[in-house]
Amino acid sequence: MGGTFNPIHYGHLVTAEEARIQFNLDRVIFIPAGDPYYKKGQKIVTAQQRYLMTIMATGSNPYFYVSRIEIDRHKPTYTIDTLIELNKIYKDSQFFFITGADAVLDILTWKNPDDILNLCTFIAATRPGYDMSKIDEIKKKLKDEREITNINTKIHIIRIPALAISSTDIRNRVKEGKPIRYLLPEGVVNHIYKMGFYKE
Ligand code: ATP
Ligand code: MG
Repeated sequence: MGGTFNPIHYGHLVTAEEARIQFNLDRVIFIPAGDPYYKKGQKIVTAQQRYLMTIMATGSNPYFYVSRIEIDRHKPTYTIDTLIELNKIYKDSQFFFITGADAVLDILTWKNPDDILNLCTFIAATRPGYDMSKIDEIKKKLKDEREITNINTKIHIIRIPALAISSTDIRNRVKEGKPIRYLLPEGVVNHIYKMGFYKE
């Protein structure tokens, strides 16, 4: 599961656990993004701090792991590079890429969709209020233009109980002095206040 995790929240954790159980996964590896080029200019908490918050949030689940591969790469993060690297580390493994449905659209409309779909199967979580027709559109496009015939076995949709939680909302709430408790693990909440993150 890739993301900025700025900060990690219960939307991410519930999605990961649901995917793990529905697809019988051996483990879920959270991969905080190092330097997402599409978010450049936006003030982000350092990758090291996002990594630490992800460790705190996932520590109690024996199936959850956190990887530094994108953080330690020190150049723009591309999904395809990460997948190639993971395939080298975990040989003979089958990979599932857990994302929000919005992120699947981004990934598959940008770089090397054919290569990416060869290396993993997507598990796309629908966020509340999400319009599924966009996913169907990209499926049709990949089928027609790229002749990817097994597209339905390559992108799976999972429905996550109404979780309208987002990192953006959490950051805004901190800035506005509103509560964030119960939207993310308590340890992470305390760490955010202790370090003074997101105040401006
Ligand atoms: P931001 O608001 O800063 O974009 P975010 O909450 O979307 O943050 P990301 O780190 O960007 O969090 O997300 C990592 C992955 O988790 C993405 O694939 C995203 O679509 C997915 N995701 C985020 N929030 C939820 C949620 N509440 N339910 C399901 N998936 C989610
Ligand atoms: Mg996002």
